Formats: sequence, structure tokens, C-alpha cells
Amino acid sequence: MAEHKEIYLGYSTDKAVTPFLQKFLEALDAGKIMKSKCTKCGAEYLPPRQQCQKDLSECELTEFTEREAKLYSYVIVDFAPASLSSKQPYIVAIGEFPSGLRLTAHITNPMGPPTVGMPLKLAFEHQDKMVTYKWLV
Ligand SMILES: [Zn+2]
Repeated sequence: MAEHKEIYLGYSTDKAVTPFLQKFLEALDAGKIMKSKCTKCGAEYLPPRQQCQKDLSECELTEFTEREAKLYSYVIVDFAPASLSSKQPYIVAIGEFPSGLRLTAHITNPMGPPTVGMPLKLAFEHQDKMVTYKWLV
């Protein structure tokens, strides 16, 4: 059995508990993001789901290559959990890619108040064993 690199997602301390999540984290660590596609109905998920939400069939991981999105919605968090208190206030944003897939992540470099429809760029952040994705404006 191959030895897995210990990687954590985002700001949590949750380790990859399934091979599916481990593959997702390893891709993130390599600067790639994976989506999943249902083997039965073709529904796509970002971030990836192991089982289809519609028919519970298995999903396969495939690389997601879009990086430019538009701000679909956002919330400004003024009262953060303890683990994120040093970052408050911060913006959690849903970006919509041209394909229609949406992804939730922090905007880490706000240049003022966000505006729905503004362009976002997906980026990755590495810190020790932590890897995550974020939006840049
Ligand atoms: Zn399905």
C-alpha cells in the first residue's frame, strides 16, 4: 500500500479519511482542483462528491481546469470561530464558473466591498501540511 502524505484541507485539522478525499487533497497540493462526475447521470460536483446527490451512484474524479469565475454571492463574517478569529472580518464567496459549477471559498485580498458579478480568480494556498483554495480579486 502506498504511503500517503499527510495533508489537511483548509483551516481545519481534518485529515483525509477516505481514498477519494486523499486524491482530492493530493491534487490540491499539486496545484490542481478536481471535480467529480456521476458515472450514471453525468451530474458534476465541485468540490467533488463521492456519491451522486441525485441517484447515489459513484462519482469519478476528473481535473477541473477553469480558474476564472464571477461572484455569485457572498457573506462577510464578522464573528469568526476561534480558529479563524485572526482573519475576521473575512469574506466567504460563491464563485460561478462559465461551466455553471460553483465553488465556495474565502476572498483573501478584498479591494473594497464585493460586488455580485465581479471577476474572481481561483488560487491555491499551501502552508506546511495545509492546502486550500481561495478567491483572488
Ligand atoms: Zn447521478
